Amino acid sequence: MKILKASFTALLCLFLLMPLPPSFAQFPSPPTTATVAFDFRQFAPYAPDFVSPWTTLGYEIGSFHTNYAGFERVLRDYAARSDRLRVFERGRTEEHRMLYTLVISAPKNLARLEAIKADASRLADPRQLSDEAAEPLIQNLPIIVWLAYSIHGNESAAFEAMLEVLYTLVASQHPTITELLDQTVVVINPCQNPDGHERFVTWYNAVGIGRPEPFAIEHREPWSIYGRLNHYLFDLNRDLVMASQVESQSAMQSFLEWHPQVCADHHGQTVNYFFPPAALPINPNLDRGQSDKWLEVFGRGNAAAFDRHGWQYYVRDVFDLFYPGYWDSWSSLNGATGMTYETDGGGWKGLNWRRDDESILTLRDGIARHFTASLATLQTAAAHRVERLRDYRAFFVRSITEGRQGPLQCVVFPPEGDAGRRQRLVEALLHQGVEIQMAKAPFTLKAVHDYFGGVQPTREFPAGTLMVTFDQPRGRMARALLEPDTRQDQAFIERQLEKARRNTKRGPNAPKEETEFYDITAWSLPLALDVPAYWAGSRPTVQTTPVTSVVPPAPPLPPPAKTAYVFGYTSDAEARLALRLLQEGYRLATAVRPLRAGERTYPRGSFILRTERNPETLHTRLSLLAGECGVEVQAINSAYTDTGITGVGSEGVYTLRPPRIAVIAQEGVSQTSYGALWFMLSRDIGTEFTPITVETFLDLRLSEFNVLILPDGSPGAYRRAFGKEGIERLKLWCREGGTLICFGGAAAFAAHKDVDLTGARLVGEEGDAEKDGPASAPADKPGAASDEAAGAPETGSTPARYREQGRKKTTARESQKTVEPTADAATSPDAGLGKEPLPLPGAIFRAVVNREHFLTFSHEQAELPVLLTQRFFRPSKTGTNVLTIENPKPLSGFVWEGNTERFVRQTAPVIEEQIGAGHVILFADDPHYRGIWHAQRRLFLNGLIFGPTITFSTGLR
Ligand SMILES: [Zn+2]
Repeated sequence: MKILKASFTALLCLFLLMPLPPSFAQFPSPPTTATVAFDFRQFAPYAPDFVSPWTTLGYEIGSFHTNYAGFERVLRDYAARSDRLRVFERGRTEEHRMLYTLVISAPKNLARLEAIKADASRLADPRQLSDEAAEPLIQNLPIIVWLAYSIHGNESAAFEAMLEVLYTLVASQHPTITELLDQTVVVINPCQNPDGHERFVTWYNAVGIGRPEPFAIEHREPWSIYGRLNHYLFDLNRDLVMASQVESQSAMQSFLEWHPQVCADHHGQTVNYFFPPAALPINPNLDRGQSDKWLEVFGRGNAAAFDRHGWQYYVRDVFDLFYPGYWDSWSSLNGATGMTYETDGGGWKGLNWRRDDESILTLRDGIARHFTASLATLQTAAAHRVERLRDYRAFFVRSITEGRQGPLQCVVFPPEGDAGRRQRLVEALLHQGVEIQMAKAPFTLKAVHDYFGGVQPTREFPAGTLMVTFDQPRGRMARALLEPDTRQDQAFIERQLEKARRNTKRGPNAPKEETEFYDITAWSLPLALDVPAYWAGSRPTVQTTPVTSVVPPAPPLPPPAKTAYVFGYTSDAEARLALRLLQEGYRLATAVRPLRAGERTYPRGSFILRTERNPETLHTRLSLLAGECGVEVQAINSAYTDTGITGVGSEGVYTLRPPRIAVIAQEGVSQTSYGALWFMLSRDIGTEFTPITVETFLDLRLSEFNVLILPDGSPGAYRRAFGKEGIERLKLWCREGGTLICFGGAAAFAAHKDVDLTGARLVGEEGDAEKDGPASAPADKPGAASDEAAGAPETGSTPARYREQGRKKTTARESQKTVEPTADAATSPDAGLGKEPLPLPGAIFRAVVNREHFLTFSHEQAELPVLLTQRFFRPSKTGTNVLTIENPKPLSGFVWEGNTERFVRQTAPVIEEQIGAGHVILFADDPHYRGIWHAQRRLFLNGLIFGPTITFSTGLR
């Protein structure tokens, strides 16, 4: 039993702290592991001033999970004594844990650390450094290596390995280590997700008894624990596109400050260890020749170290470099050799795990491999120091020259649309270190493209237009985020199409081949945020000023009003102000027709606060909130309208009912969907809500809420949670005025024929009357849940189930998707890919906006970009199709040729169904996806603001 190999202290701790259950004896003992003991002390001698983490913590590493305070105890001890270590504090997490950057190097390097930083920064900006000046600098500069651990807080072997790496680098006097530190500055991000880590280890240490059976409770994290994600349940290894989370912002800033040439991000838990070379596809903005070369060099370095132990590992499979929001691809787009390392032991596999061949894998095994990979990486980096530094500079040289070539050389953002969204986009780019300029004068660009496929021969832009030109050091990163579409390797696409074609020839019950899409294939920020933007194959010639922050001017405060205060509705800021006022109990009204007040015309959906119906505090409080939200408010001193029929006292003005919002949060709900909603409501909007379970909603508190939100999740889990009777009670609650809002899988639940909360049906699902051919299996068959919906990892025996949870978005679903063979498909691949829509990895389409509905208040445009993944909804014949897809050609991302275009046409990504006095609102996909997606935000907020009030009786549909 592996646990018996732990130190006596650890054993004592475990037995004292965890009384054995009476039934323990009936379990067979785990077979003895064949793993050869690993020597963490191979770099002896160690300076006697430093005690090992084992001594400080009181247990052998790998026999217990170390909490954050334990790590900080070790760190404080080393920081006080070491002349090789500098500790930088860089802010706190949402749960007030300190985030650190640790810098370890030879004392002589630390003595000139600021000079090293400055030199590395000059290498990353060739505009500051000539070729002649670069070479001597390169010869003298240590290589800078970034080692990061536990971005997924439940990948526990990474955190424990970090402690061993830290001790080795700080204390070892072995020549391998001292010589390495002469050549290298090691920058460690010791724990990228302390809040998630702490949730996991506190839970595991409390319940884990070291049982290896995959079905043991210690291998199944509860929904509310799931330590992979941070406080707001964001996957931080997807967040680098928008950098909405404090952990990302802080780590990115530190990375850009240290300019590492190598980045290794330590994860878990795969079947066997993974290190690069990476799988396809590779982001085309990378310097492919350089990436391939260095991933091979570092891969071979790790391989040599692993082969010495006879360990299993794999390369070039599963883990790609396409989506720019992973640390490996993100750091690569910033000139480093960016690598994901996946270890096998630990995490949800706990202290011990029984493999399918009955051998035992331990947390300690997982730590040993990460420790070995970390050290091997440093050795490879030191061995190739000069050449790697030279290539680092070359990356930025080529970035600038390539920015002056090709069809896409700049993106410009004229001062149009929602200023708040534009500000958000600018902030996201500034977090990336991207240089942004503002035009001081009007200018003209030729051959200007918008993001909806339109081209103009010339277009004039006003002064104040923001622009990003790609001939800058971070040009590659900027292009990866701003280009309308990101090209995938053709060989990769061909391979996926071949798999899909072969799948169409297989019977409905035959196993299907998994496709290899790891993540979404579209994220273009101007589309995701719906910010007006244009791109061109030339660069503007106009005087500019650099933009370092965007703080819009504060709006003028309104004078005290006699009759009413009015504010228009065109942006997120006004929705935020409306919700704040409603939740503070002010009587806010809306005009469902264009409003005339104070000699101005306001669009439908504009807001009115009538003084005679509100307390005297209104003026003071409104001034404060309007200033905070950045909303201009007009004071109205007469109800008389100079023209038109709708003034502040009109029949068309309705007092809004404050939303009392509940959100379902429990097993079966996607944590990331719930988290993105939580973050948006709490941090961006400042709106209160109550997370509850379905059971609570039905049994106890039905009447307390008038808005219920079902985040993305498993349709089947929702159906089971509500049950037949619960679904009837939910319908009754809607009829009496409740607004039910469903995302993704929850929308599929609502559209299921047995639930029937809407006249819409999922394309291809049972009950879809227009579906070709015989009915197929319902969409909520096992595996149809959204990513991470299940929360705890699966513990079956197929290889896919051992893959890192959450990163693989579609394959598990696809593997079980029933695709009916057709005679056509069987004979000719061109005849189409099956009779059902194949799930998309995530592509962006244009949707037509129905502007006659309250959900589209504040939208003046005819089209909105929409992100679609696996579900298309047939338009409702009984309700309102608020967004519809008329043009099936994607704006961005991968679609299945011969399949997607047929099925997505004439579907409705947003649907509203009136039920009695209430509403059911469906979003085909999560409208707040990863905190990246903002384009449907106000459609969602309108559900909160107007849903509880607007019904048939208001005469508005
Ligand atoms: Zn991970």
